[in-house]
Amino acid sequence: MNCLFCRIIAGEIPSSKVYEDEYVLAFRDIDPQAPTHILIIPKEHYDSVLDAPPEAIGRLTEAAKTIAENEGLTENGFRLVINTGDEGGQSVKHLHVHLLGGRSMQWPPG
Ligand code: AMP
Repeated sequence: MNCLFCRIIAGEIPSSKVYEDEYVLAFRDIDPQAPTHILIIPKEHYDSVLDAPPEAIGRLTEAAKTIAENEGLTENGFRLVINTGDEGGQSVKHLHVHLLGGRSMQWPPG
């Protein structure tokens, strides 16, 4: 298995887990870009949002809402990001949602 996030799901690589259910795992980003920076990933491998079914996307966003509440982010707000492909800045080819919060976000992103 050469997918980094599949190896995290399998427990072969350690992660700082914050949430898990039957379909989804979430853990803290190793290189945080905000005071709270969590990656939410499906346990089933999809390369990107382009090959993921709507149920998978729904499970990720539902988990994101739960985690945002757990992290105390719902009052001030937060950002969800799905980088896709090379120009989208996707470096890990396993679908993931970034949950960023704890500071004011800039728009447009760089
Ligand atoms: P992206 O650039 O959208 O593909 O996001 C990949 C994210 O994975 C980056 O924010 C990395 O910092 C993060 N990352 C890479 N390796 C690990 C790891 N072992 N544990 C947690 N986060 C990681």
